[in-house]
Amino acid sequence: MTVEDQQQLRQLEAEFADGLAQRLREIAQRVCNTEEHLDADVLFRQVHSLSGSAESFGFKALGETAQRLEQRLTRIIDAGTQMVDEQRQQLLEDVTEMQRLARSGPDTAGSLAPAASAQDTAPVWANGQACLIYLVEDDPTLGQLLSNQLQHLGYRVQLFKDRQAAESAIQQCPPDALVVDVVLPEGHLAGAELVAHMHGLGAARMPVMFISSRGDWEARLAAARAGGDAYLAKPLDLNVFFSQLEALLKPQHAEPYRVLLVDDMRSLVDYYAHVLRDAGMQVEALTRPEDILPALAGFKPELVLLDLHMPSVSGMDVAKVIRQNPDLFSVPIIFLSAEQDKTLQLEAMRQGDEFLQKPVDDKYLATIVALRVERARELGSLMYRDSLTGLLNHGTLKYQLGDALHRMQRTGQPLSVAMLDIDHFKQVNDSYGHPVGDRVLRQLARLLRERLRSVDAVGRYGGEEFCLIMPDTHVSAAAAVVDKLRNHFAGLIHSADAGEFKCSFSAGVTEAVASDTTDLLIKRADEALYEAKHTGRNRVVTG
Ligand code: GH3
Ligand code: MG
Ligand code: MG
Repeated sequence: MTVEDQQQLRQLEAEFADGLAQRLREIAQRVCNTEEHLDADVLFRQVHSLSGSAESFGFKALGETAQRLEQRLTRIIDAGTQMVDEQRQQLLEDVTEMQRLARSGPDTAGSLAPAASAQDTAPVWANGQACLIYLVEDDPTLGQLLSNQLQHLGYRVQLFKDRQAAESAIQQCPPDALVVDVVLPEGHLAGAELVAHMHGLGAARMPVMFISSRGDWEARLAAARAGGDAYLAKPLDLNVFFSQLEALLKPQHAEPYRVLLVDDMRSLVDYYAHVLRDAGMQVEALTRPEDILPALAGFKPELVLLDLHMPSVSGMDVAKVIRQNPDLFSVPIIFLSAEQDKTLQLEAMRQGDEFLQKPVDDKYLATIVALRVERARELGSLMYRDSLTGLLNHGTLKYQLGDALHRMQRTGQPLSVAMLDIDHFKQVNDSYGHPVGDRVLRQLARLLRERLRSVDAVGRYGGEEFCLIMPDTHVSAAAAVVDKLRNHFAGLIHSADAGEFKCSFSAGVTEAVASDTTDLLIKRADEALYEAKHTGRNRVVTG
């Protein structure tokens, strides 16, 4: 978060605190008004907006009281009867309590301050356009704040305050993702209704994230039925918000699924290949099972579709050959066959993961294949990635480094490696707590992931040590890139309850030579890192 952002945040917090007394006065008047019929919907919205935002601006206890009041109101509204005096009294007690809490000022640091803050780190499409997010939020302060933070991260954002405005914009120019408050001026579930309506009109699928202070079954169910991909309860933790959004947008950036197809009938192979390519997948098709070995090695399929009965060999035997390769042990295998015999089908299932009976519906085939690959990717990422940062874990990183080194030795193209280590990180944990330390690690990980090219590999080598593999890069260029990252990271301001602080890292960068092994390469990078530490930290040394 830059200094300007901090200032803007302070200003928003001050505006929120200033407006509180007036908002509570209006709520109190509405509750006290026995003359007219209680306009429960308006009252509900006013309370709801407070319960969703108060904690974010540092009024934790007030937010909790607002939530209690909101629940009471919901019960009254659901009962559909006139409010009795005793109920009115209870509501008033809550409002009075909130007024008292408002006068005594903020009681927490607020959850919005430590927002993720790497600049320009939002996903960017291949055409260079930043992702466009539509934010539908009727609470002006929260809406403004989220919108500012998203823009700060490099997203393009449009903010809408009600369902109607959002709906016409979506029709005219659909965004890359939609963030929607469940409760909008049009009603308690207007956000969910907006999304359901949009999908009903056949709008293109886009990731949808709901944010709401409603955490009840009805709201969650409506959101799920409308086609929401994520549901975050307010008060929002901005770090969670950003990582969810990033995760939702990722599939659109993802590489196409790679599918290997083996069937002895040329016409069928061509047809299925066409169906899958039409669904955006990369397909390699074979009619001769004996050609499978080079295809496995070169194409590296993420799923294999196998005919069960082929003239020279059975699909089950092909599956066994595939499974002999430890790298392919978990690649999903789907059998395709006209085989009706249930016993044989079950037997095939033992070798593979799925059995599809021919003729297979096109759409069904494409969907099953996509689901299987998606699942396999998820499992793979659990196995190969570090759970805190989402970067490659130690084992995977070393494996990839070995791969990159072989390629360098084969092709003679340069290869550079950098080791990064956060400076005085122990002090960060000691002064601000382990969770704050974790947040710094995630922030650096995000910065590395977003700032490096897709051909570079980034891993968490150990606790607060990271390793970058940069193919086709000489050491001078690599060091320049790492130094830019260093400069950027060192400029970030981190916030914690105990105050704000900055952090830096030191790095050692080295270039591979033909006689290198992975261990030698890492050792050299480590020695350069050691020198960076001993010559003052917050610097990049080449070795
Ligand atoms: P130097 O500048 O010499 O690298 O100093 P340092 O304090 O960063 O180095 P040291 O190796 O003494 O301490 C590393 C610290 O990193 C200690 C450990 O508690 C912390 N650490 C390692 N893994 C994690 C983690 O996953 N989360 C958090 N919060 N801290 C971690
Ligand atoms: Mg360190
Ligand atoms: Mg260390």
